[in-house]
Amino acid sequence: MFRLVNVHGRAALEHDHAWFDLATLSGDDSLAEPMVAVARHRDLHELTDRCAHATAGGSMADATLGAPVPAPGQVFGIGLNYRDHAGESGLAEPAAPLTFTKFPSCITGPTADIALSGPAVDWEVELVVVIGSVASHVTVADAWDAVAGLTLGQDVSDRVVQMGDQPPQFSLGKSFSGFGPIGPSLVSVDSFADPDDVGLWCDVAGERMQDGRTRDLIFPVPVLVAYLSSICTLSPGDLIFTGTPSGVGMARGRFLADGEMLTSGAEVIGELANRCVAGSGPLAL
Ligand code: ZN
Repeated sequence: MFRLVNVHGRAALEHDHAWFDLATLSGDDSLAEPMVAVARHRDLHELTDRCAHATAGGSMADATLGAPVPAPGQVFGIGLNYRDHAGESGLAEPAAPLTFTKFPSCITGPTADIALSGPAVDWEVELVVVIGSVASHVTVADAWDAVAGLTLGQDVSDRVVQMGDQPPQFSLGKSFSGFGPIGPSLVSVDSFADPDDVGLWCDVAGERMQDGRTRDLIFPVPVLVAYLSSICTLSPGDLIFTGTPSGVGMARGRFLADGEMLTSGAEVIGELANRCVAGSGPLAL
């Protein structure tokens, strides 16, 4: 088991409420780079065992964390992957994973501010899969072996940009800078009692808006990995935002406001805490 975090841009392992610099722990300077650490996730189990006899870099409570996977090559998003969310959106369940991209420049850390691009910026708490090996045409049965671990993400979405035209602009509406907070840790698959049943929730200004479990995914994680890998070659560090349960703002007629806290949580993984601040919208044409 391991929990990989990003402390001041350097990869670190979380152990017993403290963080341990991975390059120092291993004596391998290349492991300071978080993306290298993700690709070498199979080594992180043994390195975690060393933490018990090593000197911590600091306590987790005092650390300001960056995204555990700060520079993914590809970021896939899956739409309408929970029945209750498809229902609240007034849309039919897709026959295959409805896939868009969050451009990788939107990825940010677990406590970063979210700059609101307009009056209809929405929350979508999601389990995020982190790919661990080069994967092409993997089977559903082998799919978990291609996964480095799981983290939590917010698929922040500007509904005006996303839905304002026909056909919709899913990818741009979900890719404003900072619209992809992830973290706080990348947690190994073997840390979960059942990696196909992870509870996740989301609060806006202290009010519970979303509360779901990944056992309710229409296309579960192994199916997503197998399906996407039948079309795209996946590489270590690629992310899959797996879809959001019901309770988004669009269905409530209520969106994120300047000054509100967006708090997202998942079992085993932990919490994101992102403050909403005023931002700027797209170029007016
Ligand atoms: Zn989403």
